[in-house]
Amino acid sequence: DSADFDKEVESICPFCGVGCQVSLKVKDNKVKYVEGINGPANEGRLCVKGRFGFDYIHHDHRVTKPLIRREDAPAKGLNVDPANWQSHFREASWDEALDFAAAGMKGRGREIAGFGSAKCTNEEAYLFQKLIRQGFGHNNVDHCTRLCHASSVAALMENVGSGAVTATFNEIENADVAIAIGCNPIENHPVAATFFKQFTKRGGKLIVMDPRGQALKRFSSHMLQFRPGADVSMLNAIMHTIVEEKLYDQQYIEAYTENWEAEKAHLADFSPEAMAGICGIDAETLRDVARTFAGAKAAMIFWGMGISQHIHGTDNSRCLISLALMTGQVGRPGAGLHPLRGQNNVQGASDAGLIPMFLPDYQPVTDDGVRSAFTKVWGSADFSNERGLTVTEIMDAVHDDKIKGMYILGENPAMSDPDVEHARKALAKLDHLVVQDIFITETANYADVILPASAFAEKAGTVTNTNRQVQMGRPAVSPPGDARPDWWIEVELAKRLGLDWNYDSPADVFAEMKQNMRSLENITWDRLENENAVTYPSLSPEDPGQAIVFGDGFPRPDGRARFTPASVIPPDDVPDAEYPMILTTGRQLEHWHTGSMTRRSHVLDGLEPEANCSLHPSTLRKLGVAPGEHVTLTTKRGSISIMAREDRAVSPDMVFLPFAFVEAAANILTNPAVDPFGKIPEFKFSAVRVEAT
Ligand code: SF4
Repeated sequence: DSADFDKEVESICPFCGVGCQVSLKVKDNKVKYVEGINGPANEGRLCVKGRFGFDYIHHDHRVTKPLIRREDAPAKGLNVDPANWQSHFREASWDEALDFAAAGMKGRGREIAGFGSAKCTNEEAYLFQKLIRQGFGHNNVDHCTRLCHASSVAALMENVGSGAVTATFNEIENADVAIAIGCNPIENHPVAATFFKQFTKRGGKLIVMDPRGQALKRFSSHMLQFRPGADVSMLNAIMHTIVEEKLYDQQYIEAYTENWEAEKAHLADFSPEAMAGICGIDAETLRDVARTFAGAKAAMIFWGMGISQHIHGTDNSRCLISLALMTGQVGRPGAGLHPLRGQNNVQGASDAGLIPMFLPDYQPVTDDGVRSAFTKVWGSADFSNERGLTVTEIMDAVHDDKIKGMYILGENPAMSDPDVEHARKALAKLDHLVVQDIFITETANYADVILPASAFAEKAGTVTNTNRQVQMGRPAVSPPGDARPDWWIEVELAKRLGLDWNYDSPADVFAEMKQNMRSLENITWDRLENENAVTYPSLSPEDPGQAIVFGDGFPRPDGRARFTPASVIPPDDVPDAEYPMILTTGRQLEHWHTGSMTRRSHVLDGLEPEANCSLHPSTLRKLGVAPGEHVTLTTKRGSISIMAREDRAVSPDMVFLPFAFVEAAANILTNPAVDPFGKIPEFKFSAVRVEAT
């Protein structure tokens, strides 16, 4: 009823990478409710988070004034009661807080590192990486892509020449077969999952592969619940069958790929019969999947962090790329590779250069020509040609006394890093920590100064979803108290670091981004204001953008994609007598990442209020634990006590643990070992002991 609101503002859901367009219904400077509108990704649909997960915006825990740590404050890192923060911090004016933040960082070069945010806009991500590079002369700037899809991007860049998806997920409507591996879209990309379900309803074959027997199983033609960590064995066995039975697309391979003979030779050792015992899937099923996929007219491959968060994450993605290439399933309607991106703007933040090895548009920092092109646009910039440190390397460098100050914008490493006590000790050790956020997060508990930022509904800016769709977010309400848009805070801080920055609006920043980002060709701020979304690449000012790319070659030498053979690398932390089970972590439908937003949304928190883990009924019986009682989970890193749920979807030797709950933080347990290429930690596999509490 239009009487319920006095204005409607179109914007983008702030949670997952699907990027649903929403209409925010506003009354008295409050978002009253939300409706889905007809965006290119969501076509009017929303999930429970998008529909009900917005009242965190008006939560009374919001930071409304700049805060500086009191000289007589208790030790850093102690949980700051949001209702009683005054014993830790004192209020300050913006001038005082910005001067203080800048004074602790200015002139300190490599002693300073930055974590930007996949929750902020493209313009804010761009400014953040520019501030670190131009302000401190190096590339020690990263964000949560390192914990998410960095290994997928490493494999895609290596073999396809571009880190983004080759086709939008909506293209599944033109497919007849799809693989969903290591992803749980019904919980993590729920609106994308509705398109998957429709695809099966009209006869599409959905091959689900996951160590958890998740909800998508009900819609699958094949459910391969393989052994955790056995991805490469299973995928190589499927490809072995395609080679052995000559089901590959010779014409496509000859026209568009390289290194096929090496791949073929490598796969000879991976017969389904030899791999069945390793991956826990019988040989005939592996062969049937191979025939089904290779026999498709058009097939897509979707994957999530079940693929990427392993020490062999890059190899997992290499296998998926090879599978698509050998069957010619790229660059046509209904065909393609699609890593389902996590955060709402993790694609955009990566595109904007919030990564230590790349400037915007994945242009290498090691390339002098690239750096001088940016120097020209940025004026006085002079920054290193060495790749910077990644998220987990930065924490190690703090422990090694190489990094002494950090600027953290909208990220929560005190909850999200693997072996989180290591990260928490690093944060406590810093002699200057600037945190910019909307709440006093677990990371802000360690801050010397907190800069109060804006929620998505309080500022303008563009975000880019998993489909490469650049979309316009608009302000619907004003920020509480003295909170400010993140871009404004970044500009004010940069000026105090001595940088000559003159931006009056996010549109100014977007205009600068376009100068060195070919991906934004034909995409203007005005277009986005008018059209809400444009997919990149867009071939003309009228082109809504290309849903499918690489139909006629790849952005690699000679236009050819590459087969990179993958060998089996076992998980780093294998079960033994002391830690006999396997721990895997992930998200659940109602909560988003470290929970700072969704646990402050009353509907979502009401639906899922308590930290929980999932165990098979037989495991619970063996432990003598009833569902709802507590178990203690212990790994080599630490121990937590948590309520146990009965869940037949996890195998008897496995425990699934969501990472949104600070009171039983999953990352106290996780293994920090990283993939050597993507530098992504192995969140999906740790040896664990489970006991009755
Ligand atoms: Fe938001 Fe993702 Fe849900 Fe869409 S599917 S409403 S983007 S959380």
